[in-house]
Amino acid sequence: VPAKPQEKEKAKQPSSPPLPRQNAKITPPSPPRVICDKSGQIQLSRVGFLGEGGFARVYEVKEFSGARLACKVITKSSLKTKKAKTKVRREVVNRHSSDLFQLYAEIKIHRFLEHPNIVRFQECFEDNDNVYMTLELCPSGSLMDMLRRRRRFTEPEARFFMVQLMGACHYMHTHQVIHRDLKLGNLFLDANMNVKVGDFGLAALIENPGERKKTICGTPNYIAPEVLFDTANGHSFEVDTWSIGVILYTLVVGRPPFQTSEVKDIYKRIRDNAYDFPAERAISTGAQNLIQQILTPDPSLRPSLHEIIDHAFFVSGLVPSYIPTSAHDAPPDFR
Ligand code: ADP
Repeated sequence: VPAKPQEKEKAKQPSSPPLPRQNAKITPPSPPRVICDKSGQIQLSRVGFLGEGGFARVYEVKEFSGARLACKVITKSSLKTKKAKTKVRREVVNRHSSDLFQLYAEIKIHRFLEHPNIVRFQECFEDNDNVYMTLELCPSGSLMDMLRRRRRFTEPEARFFMVQLMGACHYMHTHQVIHRDLKLGNLFLDANMNVKVGDFGLAALIENPGERKKTICGTPNYIAPEVLFDTANGHSFEVDTWSIGVILYTLVVGRPPFQTSEVKDIYKRIRDNAYDFPAERAISTGAQNLIQQILTPDPSLRPSLHEIIDHAFFVSGLVPSYIPTSAHDAPPDFR
Protein backbone atom coordinates (compact mmCIF):
# COMPACT_ATOMS: atom_id res chain seq x y z
CA VAL A 1 0.00 0.00 0.00
CA PRO A 2 1.57 3.30 -0.98
CA ALA A 3 2.13 5.58 1.98
CA LYS A 4 3.14 9.21 2.08
CA PRO A 5 6.89 9.68 2.45
CA GLN A 6 6.41 11.34 5.81
CA GLU A 7 4.31 8.41 6.94
CA LYS A 8 6.79 5.87 5.62
CA GLU A 9 9.51 7.68 7.47
CA LYS A 10 7.47 7.63 10.64
CA ALA A 11 6.59 3.98 10.12
CA LYS A 12 10.28 3.07 10.12
CA GLN A 13 10.77 4.56 13.53
CA PRO A 14 9.90 2.19 16.34
CA SER A 15 9.96 4.77 19.11
CA SER A 16 7.26 7.34 19.59
CA PRO A 17 9.08 10.67 20.06
CA PRO A 18 9.48 12.78 16.93
CA LEU A 19 12.85 12.13 15.39
CA PRO A 20 14.89 14.37 13.12
CA ARG A 21 14.39 13.91 9.40
CA GLN A 22 16.29 10.85 8.23
CA ASN A 23 16.34 11.33 4.48
CA ALA A 24 17.57 14.90 4.37
CA LYS A 25 21.01 15.04 2.80
CA ILE A 26 21.72 18.57 3.88
CA THR A 27 20.33 20.45 6.85
CA PRO A 28 18.49 23.45 5.46
CA PRO A 29 19.93 26.84 6.42
CA SER A 30 18.55 28.42 9.58
CA PRO A 31 15.75 30.92 9.03
CA PRO A 32 16.76 34.59 9.36
CA ARG A 33 17.37 36.11 12.83
CA VAL A 34 14.48 38.46 12.12
CA ILE A 35 11.69 36.61 10.35
CA CYS A 36 9.44 38.83 8.21
CA ASP A 37 6.52 38.18 5.91
CA LYS A 38 6.61 39.49 2.35
CA SER A 39 4.63 42.64 3.20
CA GLY A 40 6.87 43.44 6.19
CA GLN A 41 3.89 43.59 8.54
CA ILE A 42 5.04 40.65 10.64
CA GLN A 43 8.44 40.81 12.34
CA LEU A 44 9.61 38.13 14.72
CA SER A 45 13.03 37.76 16.29
CA ARG A 46 14.27 34.21 16.50
CA VAL A 47 15.45 33.56 20.06
CA GLY A 48 15.90 29.81 20.37
CA PHE A 49 15.46 26.36 18.86
CA LEU A 50 12.66 24.16 20.24
CA GLY A 51 12.75 20.99 18.21
CA GLU A 52 12.51 19.22 14.89
CA GLY A 53 9.76 17.01 13.50
CA GLY A 54 8.99 15.14 10.29
CA PHE A 55 9.43 18.09 7.95
CA ALA A 56 9.58 21.18 10.11
CA ARG A 57 11.90 22.87 12.54
CA VAL A 58 10.36 24.78 15.42
CA TYR A 59 11.90 27.93 16.92
CA GLU A 60 11.04 30.16 19.83
CA VAL A 61 10.39 33.68 18.54
CA LYS A 62 9.60 37.06 20.09
CA GLU A 63 7.06 39.54 18.77
CA PHE A 64 7.76 43.28 18.84
CA SER A 65 5.43 43.46 21.90
CA GLY A 66 7.74 41.03 23.72
CA ALA A 67 5.24 38.13 23.50
CA ARG A 68 6.88 34.78 22.88
CA LEU A 69 5.60 32.25 20.39
CA ALA A 70 6.63 29.02 18.75
CA CYS A 71 7.34 29.32 15.02
CA LYS A 72 7.21 26.24 12.83
CA VAL A 73 9.46 26.63 9.79
CA ILE A 74 9.02 24.54 6.67
CA THR A 75 11.67 25.03 4.01
CA LYS A 76 9.95 25.33 0.64
CA SER A 77 12.64 23.37 -1.19
CA SER A 78 12.05 20.42 1.15
CA LEU A 79 8.37 20.20 0.21
CA LYS A 80 7.76 17.41 -2.24
CA THR A 81 5.19 18.42 -4.76
CA LYS A 82 2.97 16.15 -6.80
CA LYS A 83 5.26 16.46 -9.82
CA ALA A 84 8.23 15.09 -7.93
CA LYS A 85 6.45 11.80 -7.36
CA THR A 86 6.89 9.04 -9.90
CA LYS A 87 6.10 5.80 -8.13
CA VAL A 88 2.61 6.55 -6.90
CA ARG A 89 -0.12 4.73 -8.68
CA ARG A 90 -3.52 6.20 -8.06
CA GLU A 91 -4.44 9.85 -8.39
CA VAL A 92 -6.10 9.89 -4.95
CA VAL A 93 -2.96 8.57 -3.29
CA ASN A 94 -0.88 10.89 -5.42
CA ARG A 95 -2.86 13.85 -4.16
CA HIS A 96 -2.42 12.83 -0.54
CA SER A 97 1.23 12.07 -1.11
CA SER A 98 2.15 15.66 -1.72
CA ASP A 99 3.80 17.29 1.29
CA LEU A 100 2.37 20.53 0.02
CA PHE A 101 -1.13 19.08 0.15
CA GLN A 102 -0.48 17.78 3.66
CA LEU A 103 0.87 21.14 4.82
CA TYR A 104 -2.17 22.84 3.36
CA ALA A 105 -4.42 20.39 5.24
CA GLU A 106 -2.52 20.97 8.50
CA ILE A 107 -2.92 24.73 8.25
CA LYS A 108 -6.54 24.55 7.12
CA ILE A 109 -7.48 22.30 10.05
CA HIS A 110 -5.31 23.74 12.83
CA ARG A 111 -6.18 27.40 12.23
CA PHE A 112 -9.89 27.02 13.09
CA LEU A 113 -9.41 24.95 16.27
CA GLU A 114 -9.79 26.96 19.46
CA HIS A 115 -9.74 25.03 22.71
CA PRO A 116 -7.85 25.48 26.01
CA ASN A 117 -6.17 22.09 25.52
CA ILE A 118 -5.15 22.55 21.88
CA VAL A 119 -2.01 24.48 20.89
CA ARG A 120 -3.38 27.77 19.54
CA PHE A 121 -2.58 28.48 15.90
CA GLN A 122 -1.78 32.15 15.41
CA GLU A 123 -0.85 32.85 11.82
CA CYS A 124 0.75 31.55 8.70
CA PHE A 125 2.97 33.46 6.27
CA GLU A 126 5.94 32.97 3.97
CA ASP A 127 9.11 34.55 2.69
CA ASN A 128 11.08 33.45 -0.36
CA ASP A 129 12.57 30.38 1.33
CA ASN A 130 10.15 29.18 4.00
CA VAL A 131 6.57 28.79 5.10
CA TYR A 132 6.05 29.85 8.74
CA MET A 133 3.34 28.95 11.23
CA THR A 134 3.21 30.80 14.54
CA LEU A 135 1.79 28.83 17.43
CA GLU A 136 1.16 29.21 21.13
CA LEU A 137 4.47 28.54 22.88
CA CYS A 138 4.61 25.45 25.08
CA PRO A 139 7.82 26.07 27.00
CA SER A 140 7.61 23.00 29.24
CA GLY A 141 8.13 20.36 26.56
CA SER A 142 5.93 17.34 25.91
CA LEU A 143 4.56 14.55 28.07
CA MET A 144 7.15 12.33 26.36
CA ASP A 145 9.99 14.49 27.73
CA MET A 146 8.37 14.39 31.15
CA LEU A 147 7.86 10.62 31.04
CA ARG A 148 11.57 10.18 30.30
CA ARG A 149 12.39 12.04 33.51
CA ARG A 150 9.65 10.46 35.61
CA ARG A 151 9.68 6.93 34.06
CA ARG A 152 5.95 6.65 34.75
CA PHE A 153 3.10 8.66 36.24
CA THR A 154 0.80 8.13 39.21
CA GLU A 155 -2.81 7.27 38.39
CA PRO A 156 -4.14 10.66 39.66
CA GLU A 157 -1.72 12.41 37.27
CA ALA A 158 -2.83 10.11 34.45
CA ARG A 159 -6.48 11.02 35.17
CA PHE A 160 -5.67 14.73 35.07
CA PHE A 161 -3.84 14.51 31.72
CA MET A 162 -6.46 12.17 30.26
CA VAL A 163 -9.41 14.41 31.18
CA GLN A 164 -7.74 17.33 29.38
CA LEU A 165 -6.75 15.19 26.39
CA MET A 166 -10.26 13.81 26.06
CA GLY A 167 -11.74 17.32 26.29
CA ALA A 168 -9.54 18.36 23.37
CA CYS A 169 -10.36 15.19 21.46
CA HIS A 170 -14.11 15.59 21.97
CA TYR A 171 -13.83 19.16 20.68
CA MET A 172 -11.88 17.99 17.59
CA HIS A 173 -14.34 15.20 16.85
CA THR A 174 -17.37 17.47 17.17
CA HIS A 175 -15.60 19.72 14.65
CA GLN A 176 -15.13 16.72 12.31
CA VAL A 177 -11.37 16.56 12.83
CA ILE A 178 -9.48 13.30 13.43
CA HIS A 179 -6.00 14.02 14.79
CA ARG A 180 -4.53 10.62 13.76
CA ASP A 181 -1.22 11.12 15.55
CA LEU A 182 -2.09 11.41 19.23
CA LYS A 183 0.95 10.34 21.23
CA LEU A 184 2.90 11.59 24.24
CA GLY A 185 5.34 13.50 21.99
CA ASN A 186 2.45 15.55 20.58
CA LEU A 187 0.95 16.39 23.97
CA PHE A 188 2.66 19.57 25.08
CA LEU A 189 2.44 21.22 28.49
CA ASP A 190 1.95 24.88 29.32
CA ALA A 191 3.57 26.59 32.31
CA ASN A 192 0.69 25.38 34.55
CA MET A 193 1.01 21.73 33.49
CA ASN A 194 -2.06 21.86 31.29
CA VAL A 195 -2.08 19.59 28.24
CA LYS A 196 -1.97 21.22 24.80
CA VAL A 197 -2.53 18.90 21.86
CA GLY A 198 -0.24 19.87 18.96
CA ASP A 199 1.07 18.73 15.57
CA PHE A 200 -1.90 18.53 13.21
CA GLY A 201 0.41 17.32 10.43
CA LEU A 202 -1.55 14.08 9.94
CA ALA A 203 -4.99 15.39 10.88
CA ALA A 204 -7.96 14.75 8.60
CA LEU A 205 -11.23 16.56 8.16
CA ILE A 206 -14.35 14.43 7.73
CA GLU A 207 -16.28 16.49 5.22
CA ASN A 208 -19.16 14.09 4.58
CA PRO A 209 -20.95 12.14 7.34
CA GLY A 210 -19.88 8.51 7.34
CA GLU A 211 -16.80 9.21 5.25
CA ARG A 212 -13.91 6.79 5.91
CA LYS A 213 -10.23 7.65 5.56
CA LYS A 214 -7.95 5.25 3.69
CA THR A 215 -4.46 6.68 4.07
CA ILE A 216 -2.18 4.64 6.31
CA CYS A 217 -0.68 7.01 8.81
CA GLY A 218 0.24 7.45 12.43
CA THR A 219 3.14 6.45 14.63
CA PRO A 220 3.74 2.68 14.96
CA ASN A 221 3.21 2.31 18.72
CA TYR A 222 -0.03 4.26 18.69
CA ILE A 223 -1.60 3.14 15.41
CA ALA A 224 -5.04 1.51 15.53
CA PRO A 225 -5.47 -2.00 14.07
CA GLU A 226 -8.08 -0.92 11.51
CA VAL A 227 -5.59 1.56 9.98
CA LEU A 228 -3.17 -1.30 9.36
CA PHE A 229 -5.44 -4.24 8.69
CA ASP A 230 -8.77 -2.95 7.42
CA THR A 231 -7.57 -0.77 4.60
CA ALA A 232 -10.57 -1.66 2.43
CA ASN A 233 -13.03 -0.30 4.99
CA GLY A 234 -10.94 2.68 6.05
CA HIS A 235 -10.91 4.33 9.44
CA SER A 236 -12.53 7.20 11.29
CA PHE A 237 -12.68 8.97 14.68
CA GLU A 238 -12.14 5.74 16.65
CA VAL A 239 -8.44 5.73 15.71
CA ASP A 240 -7.97 8.64 18.14
CA THR A 241 -9.78 6.67 20.85
CA TRP A 242 -7.36 3.77 20.31
CA SER A 243 -4.40 6.15 20.67
CA ILE A 244 -5.94 7.49 23.88
CA GLY A 245 -5.91 3.90 25.22
CA VAL A 246 -2.25 3.53 24.23
CA ILE A 247 -1.51 6.87 25.90
CA LEU A 248 -3.24 5.85 29.17
CA TYR A 249 -1.28 2.58 29.24
CA THR A 250 1.98 4.42 28.53
CA LEU A 251 1.35 7.00 31.27
CA VAL A 252 0.80 4.41 34.01
CA VAL A 253 3.15 1.64 32.81
CA GLY A 254 5.98 3.81 31.44
CA ARG A 255 6.19 2.30 27.94
CA PRO A 256 3.68 1.73 25.12
CA PRO A 257 1.74 -1.58 25.22
CA PHE A 258 2.89 -3.03 21.89
CA GLN A 259 6.49 -1.76 22.00
CA THR A 260 9.26 -3.95 20.52
CA SER A 261 12.44 -3.08 18.65
CA GLU A 262 11.11 -4.08 15.20
CA VAL A 263 8.23 -2.14 13.68
CA LYS A 264 6.84 -5.27 11.99
CA ASP A 265 6.65 -6.96 15.40
CA ILE A 266 4.81 -3.95 16.82
CA TYR A 267 2.25 -4.36 14.02
CA LYS A 268 2.00 -8.09 14.74
CA ARG A 269 1.31 -7.38 18.40
CA ILE A 270 -1.29 -4.79 17.46
CA ARG A 271 -2.95 -7.34 15.15
CA ASP A 272 -2.95 -9.99 17.92
CA ASN A 273 -3.94 -7.46 20.62
CA ALA A 274 -0.92 -8.83 22.51
CA TYR A 275 0.03 -6.76 25.54
CA ASP A 276 0.12 -7.31 29.28
CA PHE A 277 0.34 -5.39 32.51
CA PRO A 278 3.70 -5.90 34.23
CA ALA A 279 2.96 -7.24 37.74
CA GLU A 280 5.66 -5.10 39.36
CA ARG A 281 3.89 -1.91 38.25
CA ALA A 282 0.79 -2.54 40.43
CA ILE A 283 -1.65 -1.01 37.94
CA SER A 284 -5.12 -0.68 39.53
CA THR A 285 -7.85 -3.00 38.26
CA GLY A 286 -9.86 0.08 37.23
CA ALA A 287 -7.03 1.29 34.96
CA GLN A 288 -6.46 -2.20 33.55
CA ASN A 289 -10.13 -2.68 32.83
CA LEU A 290 -10.47 0.71 31.12
CA ILE A 291 -7.35 0.16 28.98
CA GLN A 292 -8.65 -3.26 27.93
CA GLN A 293 -11.98 -1.73 26.93
CA ILE A 294 -10.37 1.06 24.91
CA LEU A 295 -7.94 -1.29 23.16
CA THR A 296 -10.84 -3.20 21.58
CA PRO A 297 -9.73 -4.25 18.08
CA ASP A 298 -13.15 -3.69 16.47
CA PRO A 299 -13.53 0.11 16.22
CA SER A 300 -17.34 -0.11 16.30
CA LEU A 301 -17.16 -1.80 19.73
CA ARG A 302 -14.61 0.62 21.19
CA PRO A 303 -16.10 2.86 23.93
CA SER A 304 -17.08 6.44 23.12
CA LEU A 305 -15.24 9.33 24.80
CA HIS A 306 -18.30 9.78 27.06
CA GLU A 307 -18.21 6.13 28.08
CA ILE A 308 -14.51 6.43 28.87
CA ILE A 309 -14.95 9.46 31.10
CA ASP A 310 -17.85 7.73 32.90
CA HIS A 311 -15.68 4.68 33.68
CA ALA A 312 -14.96 3.82 37.34
CA PHE A 313 -11.28 4.69 36.76
CA PHE A 314 -12.33 8.35 36.55
CA VAL A 315 -15.53 8.32 38.62
CA SER A 316 -14.10 6.46 41.66
CA GLY A 317 -10.54 7.74 41.55
CA LEU A 318 -8.91 11.02 42.50
CA VAL A 319 -8.81 13.57 39.65
CA PRO A 320 -6.52 16.38 40.87
CA SER A 321 -7.66 19.92 40.06
CA TYR A 322 -4.09 20.83 39.11
CA ILE A 323 -0.62 19.28 38.94
CA PRO A 324 2.26 21.11 40.65
CA THR A 325 5.25 21.93 38.43
CA SER A 326 7.42 19.87 40.80
CA ALA A 327 5.81 16.89 39.01
CA HIS A 328 8.26 17.46 36.15
CA ASP A 329 10.83 15.62 38.23
CA ALA A 330 9.07 13.81 41.08
CA PRO A 331 5.64 12.29 41.79
CA PRO A 332 3.39 14.77 43.60
CA ASP A 333 1.81 13.86 46.92
CA PHE A 334 -1.94 14.20 46.41
CA ARG A 335 -3.00 13.52 50.02
P1 ADP B 1 6.39 17.99 12.69
O1 ADP B 1 5.03 18.42 12.27
O2 ADP B 1 7.39 18.26 11.63
O3 ADP B 1 6.44 16.58 13.21
P2 ADP B 1 6.20 18.99 15.36
O4 ADP B 1 4.96 19.78 15.36
O5 ADP B 1 6.13 17.61 15.96
O6 ADP B 1 6.82 18.94 13.91
O7 ADP B 1 7.31 19.79 16.16
C1 ADP B 1 8.63 19.33 16.30
C2 ADP B 1 9.17 19.64 17.69
O8 ADP B 1 9.14 21.05 17.93
C3 ADP B 1 8.35 19.06 18.82
O9 ADP B 1 8.74 17.78 19.14
C4 ADP B 1 8.65 20.02 19.97
O10 ADP B 1 9.87 19.70 20.57
C5 ADP B 1 8.77 21.33 19.27
N1 ADP B 1 7.48 22.08 19.27
C6 ADP B 1 6.48 21.98 18.36
N2 ADP B 1 5.46 22.80 18.63
C7 ADP B 1 5.82 23.47 19.76
C8 ADP B 1 5.18 24.49 20.58
N3 ADP B 1 3.97 24.98 20.25
N4 ADP B 1 5.84 24.94 21.66
C9 ADP B 1 7.06 24.44 21.98
N5 ADP B 1 7.70 23.49 21.27
C10 ADP B 1 7.11 23.01 20.18
